[in-house]
Amino acid sequence: MRLKNKTALITGGNSGIGLATAKLFVAEGAKVVVTGRNKQTLEAAAKELGPNALTLAADATDIAATEAAIKQGAEKFGKFDIVFANAGIAGGTPLGSAALEVFEKVISTNLTSVFFTVQSALPYLNDNASIILNGSVISVLGIPGYSAYGAAKAGVRAMARIMASELSPRGIRVNVVAPGAIRTPIWGPATATPEAEKEFEKRIALSTPLGRLGETDHVAKTVLFLASDDSAHVQGQEIFVDGGAVASP
Ligand code: NDP
Repeated sequence: MRLKNKTALITGGNSGIGLATAKLFVAEGAKVVVTGRNKQTLEAAAKELGPNALTLAADATDIAATEAAIKQGAEKFGKFDIVFANAGIAGGTPLGSAALEVFEKVISTNLTSVFFTVQSALPYLNDNASIILNGSVISVLGIPGYSAYGAAKAGVRAMARIMASELSPRGIRVNVVAPGAIRTPIWGPATATPEAEKEFEKRIALSTPLGRLGETDHVAKTVLFLASDDSAHVQGQEIFVDGGAVASP
């Protein structure tokens, strides 16, 4: 029970990495507030997570909605000890054809919303809280077609270091978990059918030193480490959970 008596906020906690983390946090004794947009998956998450979770519809790019959800969560479970700013979307922005609208949506969801989630949470954070931001290997690897996404996630790394400096006086830690390819719905058609998923797994295995697609639990367990007192002296860092993708030549 590494998170006994702790309260956590997880944005995008109704799917993929966020949901796996919410389940692990509840199993480790935390009370968890989960936000997302999709009513169906929010309802399913509420059932799965049980009474120690509160699931709320809130678009992370809507500052007022985010503030309202955080306030409601804090009123139910008390101030937060952990924030996992995880909500994000993929979105290709190839140099030759990307539209401004898509570019700006990717930036507002993956970067701007992270800043304002942390800002909105600040009045409801306990001293010595742990904030974890979700990054990506794409902030480092030159994968074609992902300028906006890569820039947003590189921005997340930069913000984490700056936030860590700003919040150290309160003992609040800010770190990044940066996944490689993980099996979640974010991959859309690439993993939508069992055949497509098999092909995708093969392709990822070839470009990953550990030779496999990552699973949500790989990331959730790293987030647990960063959220818990086990990482009490880890500040302003980024941990890649990528099977060695960034480290490989
Ligand atoms: P999922 O699509 O399974 O989860 C994304 C989550 O973000 C959903 O819960 C979704 O909720 C939420 N979300 C998206 N946009 C918004 C929004 N505007 N407001 C509120 N919630 C929102 O994908 P993952 O679990 O893979 O993604 C989680 C994070 O992990 C993202 O930040 C992603 O960039 C990052 N990541 C994932 C990798 C992977 O290979 N899976 C690799 C590297 C990083 P809803 O459906 O209700 O909109």
